[in-house]
Amino acid sequence: MNSRTSSTGLGIRIEGLRKRYGEGDMAVEALREVNMIVAPGEVVGLVGPSGSGKSTLLKCLGAIITPTAGKMWLGDQPIFDNGWKTNDLRALRRDSIGFIFQAPYLIPFLDVTDNVALLPMLAGLSNDKARSRALDLLTELDVQHRAKAQPSKLSGGEQQRVSIARALANQPPVILADEPTAPLDSERALGVMRILNRMAVQYKTAIIVVTHDEKIIPTFKRIYHIRDGKTYEEAGEGREP
Ligand code: ADP
Repeated sequence: MNSRTSSTGLGIRIEGLRKRYGEGDMAVEALREVNMIVAPGEVVGLVGPSGSGKSTLLKCLGAIITPTAGKMWLGDQPIFDNGWKTNDLRALRRDSIGFIFQAPYLIPFLDVTDNVALLPMLAGLSNDKARSRALDLLTELDVQHRAKAQPSKLSGGEQQRVSIARALANQPPVILADEPTAPLDSERALGVMRILNRMAVQYKTAIIVVTHDEKIIPTFKRIYHIRDGKTYEEAGEGREP
C-alpha cells in the first residue's frame, strides 16, 4: 500500500474528531472538536499547553489509539470514519506515516544507511534499492559522508537529519513531528525547519510539527492552536526559516 500514488491531493483531513479516555465519572474528554486540513507540501504547527490534547491527537493520527468519534483521512484513505476502515494498521504506519521525535532513536547497531533503509526493506524493496534510496536521502540532507558510520559517532544535529531521512524513506504522504527542535540551538532548529519545508514541497508531504519552541513558531504559515481538546486555526508569520 502506498497511498501517495493514489492520492487525490489531500494530505491530512480531520473532521469533528473526539477522543474520550475512560467511562462515567472517570471519563476525560481529551479531544472535543478537532478539525484540520494539511495540504501536500505544507508544514503546519500544532501548538498548545500541556494537557491540551496534542499527544492524543498525534496518537490518533498515527493510528496508535482509536478516536471516539469523527473522521480522519490520510491522502485519500479514510483511516477512521467512526470505526477503523483500514485493516492493516501496521502497514499504514509503515508506509503512510513518517515519525520524527525529539530524540532521534536511531538503531545503535545499524550503520546510518541501514537505519534509513530498514523501513523500505520491511515494505518489500530489495536491499540494494532500499540502500540506494537511503543514500539519495542522506545526500539531500547533507549527511552522506556519514553513511557508513554508527549513529553514536554522529553529532546531535547529524543524528536528527538522519532521523528526518528515515521519516521520508517510504515517501509517506504524512509526517508527524513531535517537538523535533526542542534540544537544538536556534541556528540548528531553524536549519531543521528549512529542511522540513524543502522536503515537504519536494516529496509532496503534509507535515504537522507539534511544538512550543518559540524559535520556530514564526516559520509557520499556518498554526493550529489546541486548547481543552479543541483546535483553532491561525495564520502564522511564515518567515523564511
Ligand atoms: P498534551 O500532549 O497536550 O500534553 P495529552 O493528549 O497528553 O495532552 O492529554 C490530554 C488530556 O487527556 C489530559 O487531561 C490528560 O490527562 C488526558 N489523558 C491523556 N492520556 C490519557 C490516558 N491514557 N488516560 C486517561 N487520560 C489521559
